[in-house]
Amino acid sequence: MTDFSHHVLAINQAADAILKHKVNSLQVIPAVAIKLLRLTQDESTNVGDLSLLIETEPTLTAKILRNVNSAAFALSHKITSIKRAVNILGFSAVRQLALNQLFYNKLIDHKSKQQFDQLFFWQHCLFVASLSRAIATSLKHPDPDLIYTAGLMHDIGKIVLETHGKVSYSDFILACKNDEQPTLLGEHDFFGLNHAEMGYAFCQQWDIPEQISAIVYCHHELPGDNSPFAIYKRDIAIVNFANYIAWLQGIGSIALNNPPELHSETSKYLAIEKLDLETLLSHVDQEMQHTREFYGIHFPNINRLRAALVQTTLLLSTHNKRNSNAVKTRTDSISITSLTTPHKSLISSEIVPWTLAVIQEDFAFERLLMLDINPKQRSLAATYTWPETLDKNSLQAFNIKIDELPSTILNSLRERNAIIINTNNNKNCSILKQFGVEEFLIIPVLSHNRLVALLYADKHTTNTALTNNCMDQIHPIIHELGVALANAKRFELEKKRAELDSLTGLLNKRMVTDFLTQTFELEAEQLSKVAVGFIDIDFFKKFNDTCGHQAGDDVLKIVAQIMRTLTRPSDFIGRYGGEEFVFVLRNTNKQGAYSYAERIRQEIERKGIILSQRFHEHALTVSIGVSLYRPDFATFQEMVEVADSAMYDAKHDGRNCIKIK
Ligand code: GH3
Ligand code: MG
Ligand code: MG
Repeated sequence: MTDFSHHVLAINQAADAILKHKVNSLQVIPAVAIKLLRLTQDESTNVGDLSLLIETEPTLTAKILRNVNSAAFALSHKITSIKRAVNILGFSAVRQLALNQLFYNKLIDHKSKQQFDQLFFWQHCLFVASLSRAIATSLKHPDPDLIYTAGLMHDIGKIVLETHGKVSYSDFILACKNDEQPTLLGEHDFFGLNHAEMGYAFCQQWDIPEQISAIVYCHHELPGDNSPFAIYKRDIAIVNFANYIAWLQGIGSIALNNPPELHSETSKYLAIEKLDLETLLSHVDQEMQHTREFYGIHFPNINRLRAALVQTTLLLSTHNKRNSNAVKTRTDSISITSLTTPHKSLISSEIVPWTLAVIQEDFAFERLLMLDINPKQRSLAATYTWPETLDKNSLQAFNIKIDELPSTILNSLRERNAIIINTNNNKNCSILKQFGVEEFLIIPVLSHNRLVALLYADKHTTNTALTNNCMDQIHPIIHELGVALANAKRFELEKKRAELDSLTGLLNKRMVTDFLTQTFELEAEQLSKVAVGFIDIDFFKKFNDTCGHQAGDDVLKIVAQIMRTLTRPSDFIGRYGGEEFVFVLRNTNKQGAYSYAERIRQEIERKGIILSQRFHEHALTVSIGVSLYRPDFATFQEMVEVADSAMYDAKHDGRNCIKIK
């Protein structure tokens, strides 16, 4: 046995020890995804095979066709079959859409603990996949699509651990959040193997093509010359680099403090300095934009800035490595960590304190304050401080009206310049007295060109003089802070939007599940008055088949709109799946639930009659199943199942009616 096969054996044993089930029985991604991945190997795979495979999953087919027919592809005719789609867009585009869809479903459907943010993780995988392919293409790689797939899968080990581990990846994040050691080592301690090894075990068991398994296995560390994977070094370097860039951009896969390292050989294999990062990143952004629109999620897009930032960072990183043994001199070079720290998170309550801490480390200030600007009240308020333990009373002095600031500060704010305030100017006396210092530094924080906050810094006890030099050096860090804050704001907004189903604007399945979970935590008295209902459109397929998919989508929007207008604000409605809607009523009883359902049923039928011409005389009706709360329901799932079965009873009873259980 070779060293490597010994190692693989150990990996498999470790995997089996940490997983709830044997690794070869895991349903981490659906069977059809596995088959799609294997198809990549086979040169002779023809249009028929791929279409057949996809068409075995009707919802997948519907989603792909919807995607293909969306504005992004700008086709002149509607495409209604997978075969046509493959013929027109090509094998690889359709396979990619299918894989994206399958991974997305798996990630978003799985209910994770908070620490593992699926949406965030999903966009990380997409970004790495997309950038990897763009780089592969620019390097004239023979199979850029394979590199895309490997990029999409590179962190699959994390999903395996999160969904099937005896302890989950969320548990790891929570337990090791503040660890100083590299994440891979931390994982090894925690799980017995790291996520790259877990991913490899998974790929092996499922017969994923070797080239992809090799990338999954080595994406953090390039293989040595004697490794069986040495032949894939360049492929691995591409994904290693894309992963590194993703983290630099704040698009890491998880919220840990230790971003991955750029492997030193990666630069050698990719000739990084020759890559046109600006073009690559803007291409990736376009591609991601389309995917995000399709899924109804949107994340920051600041390509130009990022390209510049990445270039600087790369330069600095090589510079830093060269000097890594030299003692860090505080004032003549700022550390690379300071520049990248603001991008390590998309949550402002992390970004700001982390950034204050690194500034302190580089410049040895004694106090750092983030003074947020409230534009309505035209006032400043101290939000974050370094040290975090600053006395609350002493902070009161900083909550002041902007108009009360001396003209020296006001002028510098107007010009958006940093300024040192000291006794050299008489106008500063009163503010210096108010803050109890002889000198301080103010730097405006701009986000999207808007002044959002001021950074205050002083060395009030040692009274070391502040220099213009240090002011110049903090500037780029504050610039990054501003960009990161803008991203964070955007991210917050987009996360909200991601809770909505993009077609109907109703809350999506994940939110329905969350709401039901909360509902089941109500007091018994309130819980006894809860009703859950399923609304399913009758013969919905007919609308799609004879009037086209667009008409089908419109029907869904019409039904959603009717539900919206007939539902009280205190009740809840959502889209549960394809053509299935859910309502949750509170404070109701059998009669109340029935009359609500009946109003909806009638109104939909009435709308359908009005629109019957448009829908080729297909009647628009729904079948509704309702379940009333019973104390013997242990979980909300049981209640949902009863509502679902009531809905099927309504179908069997001739449709267009209501059944209550
Ligand atoms: P039944 O009365 O028994 O409910 O028959 P049905 O045709 O309504 O039900 P079935 O579950 O057989 O078909 C549902 C179809 O809905 C299949 C799928 O192609 C389609 N579908 C799912 N999601 C969407 C969507 O977002 N838009 C459109 N236009 N169609 C969708
Ligand atoms: Mg990884
Ligand atoms: Mg139906």
